[in-house]
Amino acid sequence: MKKHNFNAGPSILPREVIEKTAQAILDFNGSGLSLMEISHRAKDFQPVVDEAVALFKELLNIPDGYSVLFLGGGASLEFCMVPYNFLEKKAAYLNTGTWAKKAMKEAKAFGEVIEVASSADANYTFIPKGYDVPADVDYFHITTNNTIYGTELHADPEVNVPLVADMSSDIFSRPIDVSKYICIYGGAQKNLAPAGVTFVIVKNDAVGKVSRHIPTMLNYQTHIEKGSMFNTPPVVPIYAALQTLRWLKAQGGVEEMQRRAKLRSDMLYAEIDRNKLFRGTVTAPEDRSYMNICFVMADEYKELEADFLKFATEKGMVGIKGHRSVGGFRASCYNALPVESVQALIDCMQEFEKMH
Ligand code: PMP
Repeated sequence: MKKHNFNAGPSILPREVIEKTAQAILDFNGSGLSLMEISHRAKDFQPVVDEAVALFKELLNIPDGYSVLFLGGGASLEFCMVPYNFLEKKAAYLNTGTWAKKAMKEAKAFGEVIEVASSADANYTFIPKGYDVPADVDYFHITTNNTIYGTELHADPEVNVPLVADMSSDIFSRPIDVSKYICIYGGAQKNLAPAGVTFVIVKNDAVGKVSRHIPTMLNYQTHIEKGSMFNTPPVVPIYAALQTLRWLKAQGGVEEMQRRAKLRSDMLYAEIDRNKLFRGTVTAPEDRSYMNICFVMADEYKELEADFLKFATEKGMVGIKGHRSVGGFRASCYNALPVESVQALIDCMQEFEKMH
């Protein structure tokens, strides 16, 4: 039976990315060696990093003066590296969910942290608006897509301070104005690659400004100067990332990804709103995520939750159980998810509705 992969991350990747990476694991560039057994300094590997960096810049329209880094440690390590490198006195954070809160917690060790707004009291069912960001902060940190709660900032915020963003779960799903940011980071294991590599887009002249000593490995300057080769980078995930970037370009880039994301999410939200059995969890329609679509059973059908999960699983739906902080269901619809998978889930919801 065909599986429809709605996993939240690690998650679906284009089939050709998996096949090309598998091929390179067997034989890298016809060298007779596996991608897993060559040096990251081998002459054939440098072009992989160079092309991945170049495609990042091309696809996201990154202006001159920025570096693209491939590091280890996940987005979680960036929660600490960002304030280490950029927080001199104070920083502002928008508290839109679990990951935003974790980022804020790390920053508190480095200086004053201002929570400009929070939707924690409403279990993060919307993205706060109408807040003020003090003009004298070193940066304003946002989480563009809240993977657990299914809310998303669909446009770059209009503020007069440098932005920093965790884009772990929506990178490459829409155009962004990189010039508003001094740093954009994320774990790769949603829209880019298997787990193991973290991408960081950093503005070169924003680093080296804080007065504290920064340990070598945690200093962005180190990785900028060494082109992500200060230590051994995650070779296999970087290779896979390059295959995804090539795929993205061939498919039409981030504008096309945005069109598909909107199509998929419009279809699924329309069904959630129409079907009497279900209810979307996000209270502000404009904040509904295109990537992680969260819904629960309507109050009068609560007892059917386990039955629907079983029913959908039997029909090939994978990974739709909601995160424990929200409950119900979460259909993660990342770039590589075909619209047919969304249709298959909708068919399940309609069939289940007829049974009740
Ligand atoms: N930020 C967001 C928005 C996430 O979705 C996740 C992981 N799901 C993280 C940060 C943490 O990423 P990592 O596991 O790579 O540290």
